[in-house]
Amino acid sequence: MAERTLRGARLGGQSFEDERGIEFAARQQVGYECPQGHGFEITMSVEADVPAIWECPRCGAEALSTSGIQPEVKAEKPARTHWDMLLERRSEKELEDILKERLELLRNGEIGPAHLHRANQKKRKAS
Ligand SMILES: [Zn+2]
Repeated sequence: MAERTLRGARLGGQSFEDERGIEFAARQQVGYECPQGHGFEITMSVEADVPAIWECPRCGAEALSTSGIQPEVKAEKPARTHWDMLLERRSEKELEDILKERLELLRNGEIGPAHLHRANQKKRKAS
């Protein structure tokens, strides 16, 4: 008898958790209106990145969000890469010198992964 009660509680607990995950997810209604004047709402998670444009379910035209979200305008300037930013601060010659310097330190065990440091320290103590 006790066993049955326990089993029932366990199963009930599980299904409650499953339902909670689905039912209680926060939502929002996002309104759209197409150029033909068809207004409609889409249900989305509040965490969703709300798209500025949604296809009108009645005529297939691109409907704009009524909450004032503008479609993303593509940047005209190409994005600066890390390499571009680096070259603004150092010439390639400088970078090559730094690389050589760092490689030397690495080979001497002064920089780099910790296990190499330790190995090197042991060698130093031994010698
Ligand atoms: Zn429409």
